[in-house]
Amino acid sequence: MQRSDRFGSRGDKMIPWGKLLSVLSVYLALAATAWPDSEAPLPRTAVVGVTVIDGTGAPPRADMAVLIQGDRIAAVVPRRDFAPPAGTKIVDGTGKTIIPGFVGMHDHTHVPGNTFTGEVAAGLWIAGGVTTVMTAGSAEPERELALAREIAQGERIGPEILPSAPYISGPGGSPAMAMPADAAAARAFVRDWSKRGVQWFKLYRHTEPAIAAAVIDEAHRQGRRVTGHLCSITFAEAAVMGIDGIEHGLTSATDLVPDKEPRSCRSAVPLLDALDLDSPEVSRLIATLVAQDVTLTSTLAILEGRFADRPQGDARSLAMLTPAARDRLAAHRAQLEADAATTRWTSAVWEKILAFERRFVAAGGTLLTGPDFGRHVVPGFGNQRGFELLVEAGFTAPQAIRIATLNGAEALGLSDRIGRIAPGYEADLVLIDGDPARDARDIRKVETVFVNGQAITPAPLIEAARGRFGPQ
Ligand SMILES: [Zn+2]
Repeated sequence: MQRSDRFGSRGDKMIPWGKLLSVLSVYLALAATAWPDSEAPLPRTAVVGVTVIDGTGAPPRADMAVLIQGDRIAAVVPRRDFAPPAGTKIVDGTGKTIIPGFVGMHDHTHVPGNTFTGEVAAGLWIAGGVTTVMTAGSAEPERELALAREIAQGERIGPEILPSAPYISGPGGSPAMAMPADAAAARAFVRDWSKRGVQWFKLYRHTEPAIAAAVIDEAHRQGRRVTGHLCSITFAEAAVMGIDGIEHGLTSATDLVPDKEPRSCRSAVPLLDALDLDSPEVSRLIATLVAQDVTLTSTLAILEGRFADRPQGDARSLAMLTPAARDRLAAHRAQLEADAATTRWTSAVWEKILAFERRFVAAGGTLLTGPDFGRHVVPGFGNQRGFELLVEAGFTAPQAIRIATLNGAEALGLSDRIGRIAPGYEADLVLIDGDPARDARDIRKVETVFVNGQAITPAPLIEAARGRFGPQ
């Protein structure tokens, strides 16, 4: 689905008649010798001498030039072959790295407790280099849809948002979520929310299989996609139903619970300590997901917060929290310490969670990533943390960037225009003052974010969000 089908292209809002100008710019480029550059309507910026990590997983290419023209990437060439067109603004890329904008695939507009955080998140996402998000379940879908439109129309700085319907759950689940009574009601729900503009549906832990099957089938009829934070339904059951994505990975794979009754929700977490990743059950599970082409969304940033021996948020993230969020975090940390002797969240379990993601990818699976929010995990910085943890899991930096960019774009059906650095792609780019392939933490050193070609400096956006993320 093209952005212009949904909200009007973001190019249209930055420059009137953006589409027309894009066509014209190609004509101008072709006719450059006959048509003076001074009449070219589109601003041009070139980042020169930069290392390119292009989103495909290919190794970094050093000493490159990336030419941005209007809202598009116009050229990606070795610096020695680059002759900037007259009037091009030159940005020195020496010692810097450029990557595609992150595609966040578990990026809610709320935090637990249902506080709508979309407006604060919008700026933080951009500041952290996130230019597209899929919200993976909405607590306030009308506000989320409105925010997505505001951004698309240029009234607010933010990423392109692919909105979600209200979460769907079932008996025993949260009463705040939708619980369609039967398959017909589930289909009506999907049609209604599709009409209102949502792109994704999210099945939550207690969804009944018959409801899930109806949601998935009807969503696909409407050109929409479905993901799930599953429990009552196993990954394999959902895969066979045709679900598009599954959230969180190993910790919610109830396939591995030995005596799980159908339709019952039993946590997989207690068995992880004893789980043998080389067991046939794990291999079969991964093989089923790969065969059914189901994506898995890594949410390591939020999961990390459950482990007492893991970092609990950097100073930058903590500075964004509201006082109420800080109080919650303090209570959470006290609980972690109180539970330290008996916790199931051990370092051995952490290693298995990472290894499972590695194995899934090694088997041909498509891994996506998103931070999920709550505790110390905030938009933008949380997405960066997700990248760092994928590298810790054993992926190379280019692989981890692919997971965070092109894989997400493919899962959204948008890989013809975002998710990689190549001519013709939208100029959603992150210029980093460092080398994340050398040190993953350099991903935090965002110097400039290009959003559809518009250069944005993170600092004012971060300042505007200080003390404002989380419940009031
Ligand atoms: Zn979530």
